[in-house]
Amino acid sequence: MSLLAGRRFVLLAQRSDATGAEAAARRVMEALQRPFTLDGMSFTVTASLGIALHPADGGNLDELLRGIDAVANDFELRTAIADGQLEVWYQPGLDAHTGQLNCMEALVRWNHPQHGLLLPGEFIELAEISGAIDDLTQWVIDRAVRDSHRLSALGRPLLVSCNLSVRNLHDRLLLEWLDELATTVGLPDSGLYLELTESQIMEDPAGASHVLTRLAEMGIGSAVDDFGTGYSSLSMLLHVRASVLKIDRSFVDGLPHDTEDHAIVTTIITLAAALGMTVTAEGIETEEQADALIALGCDRGQGWRYSKAVPATDFEAMFSPAPAHPTG
Ligand code: C2E
Ligand code: MG
Ligand code: MG
Repeated sequence: MSLLAGRRFVLLAQRSDATGAEAAARRVMEALQRPFTLDGMSFTVTASLGIALHPADGGNLDELLRGIDAVANDFELRTAIADGQLEVWYQPGLDAHTGQLNCMEALVRWNHPQHGLLLPGEFIELAEISGAIDDLTQWVIDRAVRDSHRLSALGRPLLVSCNLSVRNLHDRLLLEWLDELATTVGLPDSGLYLELTESQIMEDPAGASHVLTRLAEMGIGSAVDDFGTGYSSLSMLLHVRASVLKIDRSFVDGLPHDTEDHAIVTTIITLAAALGMTVTAEGIETEEQADALIALGCDRGQGWRYSKAVPATDFEAMFSPAPAHPTG
């Protein structure tokens, strides 16, 4: 047995078959479930395990390891959703013209029982490989839509955005499911839009165009996320017909002094206006950056200058009336 990376190990069983592999897996799990003592303290560990068989699950070691990852993480993520370990955090977005808060972006977090709070960068790719991304996406959208209704009831209807993965474009049930959500729960009062990164759109422009067009017919908007980093063409932008363009934060970073960033941001804002798209700047961290973007005619902004992403309860608390002072 050898240590792969972090807390992962691989056990190679030669001249074995499915029955032999299962028996070996069971022995490993039984051994791991027994408490062990270290420095006088008793510990128990939990583990998940995946099996990949050569050649059915992969012709070489890399393919076999990917197969194992998919099995093990699929199991964990689906359990995580069912166990309520996922959370939706929200980052507010502001209308650049009025300075008013007018939208909320849903950003998923995994409150992992062993590894603590995980950021999307640590598990979205695994969700995509394993196929758990379809359940995850539905879970996030459902939660965000319901949270937006609660905010509406507090008198703060906000535009809601959720992130899609390119894998979701192949989920034949997604559009049907969204249609049902619109009927049963109702779309957010100020609107819903779904974001796809520019580079993900480039992986499947035809699929993206089809899904975004169908979304528009359902009254759901769409955004090209992280724009400027994905080497797309103007014709792609015309083809997918998204309603919002989000300028990647790497270009906002250099504002207002970096002349190249300034030129790129100016061009993106002009392009968005010409195509009738709303333009949002991501990753605004300073007042100087915000001022430069307003001067350039950017429509919306989000970033740590205003607020980081926060748990749903904290986000809601920003809008709840302050508790009355106790009297007497
Ligand atoms: P994104 O959609 O572009 O979201 C913006 C990311 O930048 C978030 O990171 C946010 O916390 C971070 N950010 C916001 N303002 C600032 C700032 O001023 N400075 C800096 N340095 N960072 C800022 P997060 O939450 O780690 O999410 C990373 C990416 O993971 C997201 O990028 C999105 O592409 C993806 N993601 C998040 N939630 C989901 C989800 O539910 N489904 C899918 N498929 N992807 C998701
Ligand atoms: Mg996004
Ligand atoms: Mg982004």
